[in-house]
Amino acid sequence: RFQRNKRPCRYDIDQFTPSFMSIFESLVPSDEEISKQKRLWTTLSRLINKEWPNSKLYLYGSCANSFGFSNSDIDLCLSIDDMEMSKADIILKLADILHAGNLQNIQALTRARVPIVKLMDPNTGLCCDICVNNLLAVVNTKLLRDYSQIDKRLRPLAFIVKHWAKSRCVNETYQGTLSSYAYVIMCIYFLQSQAILPCLQEMEPTYYATVDNNICAYFDQVDKLTGFGAQRKDTVSRLLWAFFHYWAYKHNYTKDVISIRTGRIISKNMKDWTRRVGNDRHLICIEDPFETSHDLGRVVDSNTIWILREEFERAADILQYDPNPSVTLFEPY
Ligand code: ATP
Ligand code: MG
Repeated sequence: RFQRNKRPCRYDIDQFTPSFMSIFESLVPSDEEISKQKRLWTTLSRLINKEWPNSKLYLYGSCANSFGFSNSDIDLCLSIDDMEMSKADIILKLADILHAGNLQNIQALTRARVPIVKLMDPNTGLCCDICVNNLLAVVNTKLLRDYSQIDKRLRPLAFIVKHWAKSRCVNETYQGTLSSYAYVIMCIYFLQSQAILPCLQEMEPTYYATVDNNICAYFDQVDKLTGFGAQRKDTVSRLLWAFFHYWAYKHNYTKDVISIRTGRIISKNMKDWTRRVGNDRHLICIEDPFETSHDLGRVVDSNTIWILREEFERAADILQYDPNPSVTLFEPY
């Protein structure tokens, strides 16, 4: 890796932006698909509200955070205040309600780390996962969507990174690589470091939510921030090069934690993330913006960290040297 961290970007990097942009556009869901998702959400809300009038069904995850690909599953979260029932019982009853509503392929996964009900809607063919009382995910979904409205380069950057991660099989948390959520946070952090995005949680809050003892507060009037990064003229392909260059050759994996909450690097020492605790190894440290004791990189182990780092290097080298980076980057693993 000798001195590669100092290598300058190829002179012709900007010419690849149009091809990366057309890949981005091919991944974005159509308006028709989005309205289909919203219709299913309304149908399910009505069905569940009949049984539980005080409940509320939220759309979260990639369908609501603006980083969703077309044909992705819908993530829903049922918020319900029922002291009598355990989460598992709620999940089982929810499965019964859905069954009575003629939804199909219903599976109640009560023992999963995040218990959910899976279903398929026979009218639209759409698949959904419904979790219960996971409101932090609803709030972090809003944070991601708010960031996406500040600078129009964030969505293409994150879509391409997610598409690369899926093509290269490094988007599988149960196999020790990173979630889509973690990749989007990495992109936001990177644009903060380039002064293209602000740090919303360091600004005067205009939005507050309290979720299980966590206070979530940040500036959410993002329409007042359009143009924040306009001084920085970097194109999407240049940012992609710099993103992978950072994770391949510049990030200090022994000492650093990336944090979009502060918009800065914080030290592993300060968080006491320097050694393995239980199953959390802290080999790549990505702080959750609200649940700050939560390292989104904790799923990465001593084997998969090298898989990831080699993939970052491969991507950085393709963007540096390949004659056709917008094709080679996504070649299947
Ligand atoms: P994909 O297109 O791959 O389905 P996605 O945006 O739905 O992407 P996931 O990683 O499946 O991403 O996560 C769905 C949502 O769940 C995220 O938007 C986030 O709100 C929440 N989430 C996922 N992982 C975590 C985590 N480790 N900690 C907190 N919230 C998480
Ligand atoms: Mg999802």
